[in-house]
Amino acid sequence: MSQLNSQLYPYLLSPLKVGAHTLPNRVIMGSLHTRLENEPDGVHRLAEFYAARARGGVGLIVTGGVSPNFEGRVEQGAWVLDSPEQLVDHAPIVQAVHEAGAKIALQILHTGIYAKHDEIIGPSALRSVINPRQPRAFTVEQIEQTIEDFVNCAVLAQQAGYDGVEVMGSEGYLMTQFTASRTNKREDEWGGSLENRIRFPVEVVRRTRERVGPGLLIMYRISAIDLVEGGLSGDEIDRLAQALEQAGADVLNTGIGWHESVVPTIATSVPRAAFAFAAARLKRVVSIPVVASNRINMPSVAEEILERGQADMVSLARAFLADPDFVLKAATGRTDEINTCIGCNQACLDYIFTDRIASCLVNPKACHETEFTATPPLKKLKVAVVGAGPAGLACAITAAERGHQVQLFEAGNEVGGQLNLARRIPGKEQEFAELVRYFKTRLTTTGVHVHLNQRVEAATLVEQGFERIVIATGIKPRTPSIVGIEHAKVVSYSDVILGRAQVGERVAIIGTGGIGHDVAELLTSAPGEPQTVVEFLKAWGVDPTLRSAGGLQASVTHGAQRKVVMLQRGTKKPGARLGKSTGWIHRTKLTKRGVTAVSGCTYEKIDDQGLHYSVSGERHVLDVDTIVLCAGQDSEQDLADGLAGKVLHLNLIGGARIATELDAMRAIDEGTRLAYAW
Ligand code: FAD
Ligand code: NAP
Ligand code: SF4
Repeated sequence: MSQLNSQLYPYLLSPLKVGAHTLPNRVIMGSLHTRLENEPDGVHRLAEFYAARARGGVGLIVTGGVSPNFEGRVEQGAWVLDSPEQLVDHAPIVQAVHEAGAKIALQILHTGIYAKHDEIIGPSALRSVINPRQPRAFTVEQIEQTIEDFVNCAVLAQQAGYDGVEVMGSEGYLMTQFTASRTNKREDEWGGSLENRIRFPVEVVRRTRERVGPGLLIMYRISAIDLVEGGLSGDEIDRLAQALEQAGADVLNTGIGWHESVVPTIATSVPRAAFAFAAARLKRVVSIPVVASNRINMPSVAEEILERGQADMVSLARAFLADPDFVLKAATGRTDEINTCIGCNQACLDYIFTDRIASCLVNPKACHETEFTATPPLKKLKVAVVGAGPAGLACAITAAERGHQVQLFEAGNEVGGQLNLARRIPGKEQEFAELVRYFKTRLTTTGVHVHLNQRVEAATLVEQGFERIVIATGIKPRTPSIVGIEHAKVVSYSDVILGRAQVGERVAIIGTGGIGHDVAELLTSAPGEPQTVVEFLKAWGVDPTLRSAGGLQASVTHGAQRKVVMLQRGTKKPGARLGKSTGWIHRTKLTKRGVTAVSGCTYEKIDDQGLHYSVSGERHVLDVDTIVLCAGQDSEQDLADGLAGKVLHLNLIGGARIATELDAMRAIDEGTRLAYAW
């Protein structure tokens, strides 16, 4: 293994004393809800999941949220830690992490009015805008009991061998529901003045410290900016932070925004480290270490935050789904090999929101560690992979990693397939380019033989005697059969994205899927995008001085140069299939730019007048200069058809197998899993 070298990232890789513990570096793996605990072999899978990250060099791991009592749990089946019998679930996890050389803290999370079950309870009987369930309000006795439940949970965590606890006080969960007047309408000593509203979290920390002594690390995850109306102002957050320090917190981790905020905080389009300013504010007012979080996905981003003195540590969560060896690679001069979290949320948050187990678009092994055996294959095979989109790339590098001899054929002059289109969309450039960079590096390090500019023929593959042939030739854009489709106004999405088509001021987009939305975004972006952090904060109405409640101010929008209309035949909400956690960002942006959408269309014809269509029998003409086709895709299977019956082991993956509902996540997953099947 390469030598560890702390000089590569001197701030990031330097040790830090936090409370009674010394951490080997400044990287915390933040809490992630994986839903593995609901699985029959969940404890074993969680132990493997965390141990892999511990072996990868992270200093401190924070577990997914565990409730201190029954009412506080996230959902049915989520973990509660309120009695010693439950310690049996925690011991193997703690042991696995300790054996791998890292420290681990249990996150104590009470969801309050965000709970997805009927025992829901909050400071006041107020429904959250993102949860249809009606909560009850705590009685004073229930508040006292809940504080005791937090303390009891921390004591149990200590007995289980955890090195610390993180009290979850951000993202709109119970603690924030108490601290913000938005959700706390109480008139007793737990509501009203700031002193009363912060009493609950401060008492939790104070009484926990009293019971656990100095040995257990107490980290409090403070909401460093609420991003909701009726949230705390900067001064109020400062006073909460100071009170928590006085009460015995060892370290302040930071959370950004509530789940119900209408400001993007972690999506791809959020600039890296956009919210580090919020941690920096806190660092001025406390003497305990402060941790920065959100959109920190590469060592250089983390190093800059630390070097600028904005925080003492960084917390990365999704980055550890993407690459368990993040720290190790940074410390051994292999930053180029890091599989970077692209902020898409497609396999992590969107899976959690739709009741599935979290994983990762760029790393399908995440949370499925036990399904991918390290056992080498019985026979080293000669493998041909055709098509260097994400499906073919994932298959080629995984097969080569497993010891096979792999040749990768690509018709284009670069690898990446449609990722090379995605990385031309404003907001996606940096991260999708990072994904292509990762694949390129891995092709080199795993020794895949790459043939560019080779549209390979069936006969060539047959002649060369490959033992496995993988067809990853992707898709061809669909051309709908509309009268006049060959008109000069009609252009394909790929030509628009690659700048090969002239696009006028008035545009119709046929199709409202992911690509239709991306093209609308591209065509209505201001010149000079992507945005800087300052521009991003302005555009979404974030007040970095936090003078206002919740850190919000009026947003600054720019008018789009073009008038864009999107159309679909279906009647569901346009973009209904966009990611649950990101679709609203696309829709909000496009609405601000005046983009409109028409549903239930029947396309009649295209001519010099523009696009003729009808809705419920009523005829319309869109007088447009350009019509962009984003009408879905069909599989590119010509090569597969040519090989059928001529070779023994032929597999289709990604878009070549099925074009419907294809995305990069399925492509990478299929490519990786196929390489493990040999
Ligand atoms: P492709 O990426 O299409 O790759 C196929 C490759 O095969 C191509 O490079 C092609 O040149 C090559 N090829 C074809 N025939 C031959 C041959 N005979 N010989 C040699 N080579 C051949 N997905 C997401 O999950 N999230 C997103 O945010 C997202 N954004 C997108 C934005 C845009 C603008 C676009 C266009 C797509 C986006 N996608 C996104 C979709 C995603 O990129 C595709 O689902 C994914 O690339 C499909 O992977 P694939 O490997 O199956 O096919
Ligand atoms: P898509 O999501 O399936 O959308 C295709 C669009 O074309 C639909 O709006 C559909 O609407 C329309 N359409 C289909 N057949 C048509 C026809 N014959 N004539 C006219 N219109 C037709 O596909 P996509 O936009 O091409 O995206 C491809 C994949 O990439 C998707 O699976 C998507 O998830 C992924 N992607 C994801 C993102 C992201 O941000 N996560 C971004 C880009 C792409 P009607 O049938 O109602 O007309
Ligand atoms: Fe990051 Fe996307 Fe993976 Fe989630 S699914 S961890 S956002 S790359």
